[in-house]
Amino acid sequence: MLEAERAAVVAAGRRLAESGLVVGTSGNLSARSGDLIVVTPSGCSIAVMDPDDLVVVDRAGAVVEGSAVPTSELPFHLAVYDATGTGAIAHTHAVASVAVSCLCEVLPALHYTCVLLGGPPRVAPYATFGSDTLAAGLVAALAGGRQAALLAHHGSVALGDDPDAACERLELLEWLCRLHLAVVGATGGAVPAVLDDAALAAAADRFGVVPPGPV
Ligand SMILES: [Zn+2]
Repeated sequence: MLEAERAAVVAAGRRLAESGLVVGTSGNLSARSGDLIVVTPSGCSIAVMDPDDLVVVDRAGAVVEGSAVPTSELPFHLAVYDATGTGAIAHTHAVASVAVSCLCEVLPALHYTCVLLGGPPRVAPYATFGSDTLAAGLVAALAGGRQAALLAHHGSVALGDDPDAACERLELLEWLCRLHLAVVGATGGAVPAVLDDAALAAAADRFGVVPPGPV
């Protein structure tokens, strides 16, 4: 069941590991096909999964195929699919993303490529992992077409049409967070002038993506 989605999730896990974004068993991935979702199991390293390790659930989270327990973050995967209709979700505890999640409520627009994430990513308030509160906070952070968000004191999340596209955005988010840390490290904590709405709209137009909505 969902063999192509399983293969894409496994490949995405390897990609994130090679990018250095995965630490131990942290992180999880999912891909949707219609009303079925392939998701990584709880306690598994997404760097070294087999397609058969994955679990298929329905939109309510009931296991349709597989013997493992789905990731503890299943509530936010389900909530984001319901809210956005996206095709795939990637989540890790990449270090720069976690660091910035402790500093900001919105990642400042220091670089124009943030438009590829739907605009400057917001930081969802801290809530216990796996909780419905965390899921609701993440859905709110993704409002208005945002394709990525940070989870305060926790990690990063990105969406995509497929797992590879979600990974690409997650890697870009981590790069933007590294940039932010470099800038505030150089200034002693001050955030310099950020790109304004017109600059971001022009960059989005050049990329052929939807311009960011309000922060
Ligand atoms: Zn997590």
